[in-house]
Amino acid sequence: MNKLVLRGRMLTQEGLIQSGLLVIDQEKGLIEDAGGKDAVELPKDERVLDIENGTILPGLMDAHMHFFGSASQSLTEWVIIPETLVALRSVSDMKKLLMAGFTTVRDLGSKAGVHIARAEREGAIEGPSVIAASKSLSQTGGNDDPLMLPLKIAQELSYSYYCDGPWECRKAVRMCVRDGAEVIKVYASGTFAQGAKGRVQLTTEEISAITDEAHRAGLKVTAHAYGEDALENVIEAGVDSIEHGIALTDEIAARIKKKGIYYIPTLSAFFAAKPGSSSERDMMIRRHLSADMELAKKYDLKIACGSDFTGSQSEPHGENYLEISHLSSYLGEMRAISAATSVAAECMGLADRGVLRKGCRADVVIVKGNPDANIEALNPKNVLYVIKSGKLYDARS
Ligand SMILES: [Zn+2]
Repeated sequence: MNKLVLRGRMLTQEGLIQSGLLVIDQEKGLIEDAGGKDAVELPKDERVLDIENGTILPGLMDAHMHFFGSASQSLTEWVIIPETLVALRSVSDMKKLLMAGFTTVRDLGSKAGVHIARAEREGAIEGPSVIAASKSLSQTGGNDDPLMLPLKIAQELSYSYYCDGPWECRKAVRMCVRDGAEVIKVYASGTFAQGAKGRVQLTTEEISAITDEAHRAGLKVTAHAYGEDALENVIEAGVDSIEHGIALTDEIAARIKKKGIYYIPTLSAFFAAKPGSSSERDMMIRRHLSADMELAKKYDLKIACGSDFTGSQSEPHGENYLEISHLSSYLGEMRAISAATSVAAECMGLADRGVLRKGCRADVVIVKGNPDANIEALNPKNVLYVIKSGKLYDARS
């Protein structure tokens, strides 16, 4: 007996199935069959889990988060914190993510992400699969460079590799590859902390060197971009996805669409900022939460879920469903769920998950209620079971 059968209301890539059956081969960790109860043969003598008043859906994914292992939202703290402490604190963050229904997450720059990913793959710790960027790439004096520290110390301790000029940028990609990175993250602009416009960082030539080198290594590149100039740079340089993506215009959105670039608006951080003033920073946030999302919808961009949560007190891992909730207020529940399942998987280049389909990895979450009608069903309080690679976890215990 190595099969597990789930019976109940099921959300698949094809839509809602009221009486669905999902057959999981637990030994292989794969979905053996999925569909309506009349289309799927119920195996004999196997364990059947009947889901009443709940919904079965693909495991959730967060395509933009960080394992910073720190309670505070402070760049200096993130830079000076010892790597070992980050890793140890992340063990409990991993468990929280899994119990909240997240079966794959993408760490876009941290000191320990590649090691956490490896420990999870080896079975030493439990949590979602981690696609790690290793360190992020940034220019000297850029987004992740705490200017109060001497440069040498900042370089030594940072969770970013600082690189300037195309060849240093290529070398930084090679160092990430050496670390075991599975994606490359680049900062193409600052954030609000460095001026309301989010100063442009790295040139198109430098970012193009990064995308070329990463693509040669078979890795995707994702770019942090605030402001029109940074967006134009990263589109020109051929990145695969855009993080935050503040200050879309019709022309920029049309180019993103044409090039098939994924758009990860990371709404959670901006909702938390509660913009109220007329400062340029707050105006940009308001623009992101209104005009940017309208343009993203108008041009039918491929929107993926990324919370940008760091694991701090204000952005705790385990509450990442909030991003899906914010997305749903613009896209509706079904599209928001796709952003955190099938679209997130495509964005990360993971063809084996994000859908409930025969042959795919058995990554599943079972929640109380109907997330297609009320996204709060994805609140971790409502998560009943999580299945990752066929292994069943009872999230209520
Ligand atoms: Zn981030």
